[in-house]
Amino acid sequence: MTDTTEAPHPQKPADSGDIRDETRTTLAQQFADWKEPDYRVDQLLEWLYARRVDSWAAMSNLPSRLRSLLAGRWSLGSLELVRKQGSRDSTQKFLWRLHDGSMVESVLIPANPALYGEAADRHTLCVSTQVGCAYGCRFCASGLDGWKRNLAPWEIAGQILGIERWHAREAMAGGESPNHRPHGTRLVNNLVIMGMGEPLANYDHLMRALRTLNAPWGMGIGARKITISTSGLAPRIRQLAEEPEQFRLAISLHGATDAVRDQIMPVNRKFPLAQLTEACLHYLERKGKMSTLEYILLDGVNDSPAEVKPLADLARRLHAKVNLIPYNAVEGLPWKRPEESRCKRFADALSHTGVTCTLRLEKGHDIDAACGQLRLKTERPSATEPLARPTSETTP
Ligand code: SAH
Ligand code: SF4
Repeated sequence: MTDTTEAPHPQKPADSGDIRDETRTTLAQQFADWKEPDYRVDQLLEWLYARRVDSWAAMSNLPSRLRSLLAGRWSLGSLELVRKQGSRDSTQKFLWRLHDGSMVESVLIPANPALYGEAADRHTLCVSTQVGCAYGCRFCASGLDGWKRNLAPWEIAGQILGIERWHAREAMAGGESPNHRPHGTRLVNNLVIMGMGEPLANYDHLMRALRTLNAPWGMGIGARKITISTSGLAPRIRQLAEEPEQFRLAISLHGATDAVRDQIMPVNRKFPLAQLTEACLHYLERKGKMSTLEYILLDGVNDSPAEVKPLADLARRLHAKVNLIPYNAVEGLPWKRPEESRCKRFADALSHTGVTCTLRLEKGHDIDAACGQLRLKTERPSATEPLARPTSETTP
C-alpha cells in the first residue's frame, strides 16, 4: 500500500504565493483537485484566521499528507516584529520587517469612547498597504524615500494577524489563555487603511486583503468597520463605488482650494479638486453614505479663517463630516502644528457653518503618527532620535 505521507513535497510552482492570498473558492478548487473533502477547507481556514497559526506543523487536525501538499503548493509567511512603541493602554506602533528586508508599520489604537463609542477592549488598527509612497505629499514621512513596492494581499491582512498573535502571546504571558478568540470577540474590530502608502494605488491587492478580512470564512470584520483613506485618486474612487461592499471612504483633503492642495499635495495636479469632488459625489450616490474629509491643520498653510468657507462648502456638497487633525511634526520637514488656540478657532468657525467636525486634540498626534514615522526613525536613526529605548517599550 502506498503511504502518501512519505511522498516528497511536490515542487512548489515558481509563482506560488502565500496561502493567505487565496479565497475560500480558490482553496476549495485546489482541495477538490486533490480529492480532499470540503470540510478540510474549513479546518484550514480556522487555523489560518481564527487560530492565526504561522506553521503547517501546527495544523494538527489536518493529515500530514495534506500538510505536505499545502506546503508544496503555497508559502505561509509571517511578518517579523522588529520594534514596538507605546504601552498597553495607549496607542501602540508596530514596525514589521518583510521577507525582502523592507519595513512597514501598523498602529493599534485602543477604543476611545469619545472617538468611537466602543467597549474598552476593542481596538482600531491602522494598516499599511505599500512600502513607501509614490505620491510625495510634502508634509508626510511615508513618501520621503519614494515608493518601493506594493504589499501583497497577505502582507496587508498579515498585519492584523500578526498583532492578534502578538496580543495572544502577551495575554498568555500575563496568565490569560485567549489563544482562540471567536470571531465576534477579535482584538481588532475596526480597520483604518491609513498607514504607509496610498491604498488605492495598490487597488487589487487591497481588495483581495479586505475581502479576506471581511469574509465570514476569514476574519469577519464588517465592511462598515473598514475605512479606506486616499489622497484623492479620483478614478479609483469611482471604481471603489462599484464594489459590492460598503467600505467607508476618507479623503485626505488638507486644502479646500486647488491653490492650497497644489502647494502640499502633488496628486492634486493630476486630479484637481473638481475631479475629486465629482468622484466623491459619485461614491455618495452609489453608496448612499457620506465620506469623511481628513484635514491636517498646518500652521500658516491651510488654517486661516479664509479657508473655512471653501471647506464648509465642499463638506456640505459631499454631505461629509470633517476630521481636523493638528499636524504631527516630522523631523527634517519645515511644516508646523498651529497653536492649540488657533486649531480651536478654526474648528469653532467650521462648526458655526453647520458642518459636523471633530478636532483631535488629546492623543491626536499619537493617533495620527502612523504615516511612516516609525520606519523613518528606524531606517534613518541618525536623522532622528536614537534607537535605544526603555526595554518595556521596545520589542524585541
Ligand atoms: N495615502 C493615504 C493613506 C495614508 S496617509 C492618504 O493619504 O490618505 C493617512 C493620513 O495621515 C492622511 O490623511 C495623511 O495626510 C495623514 N498624515 C500624513 N502625515 C501626517 C502627519 N505628519 N501628521 C498628521 N497626519 C499625517
Ligand atoms: Fe502617500 Fe498618503 Fe503620505 Fe501622501 S499622505 S505621501 S498619499 S501616504
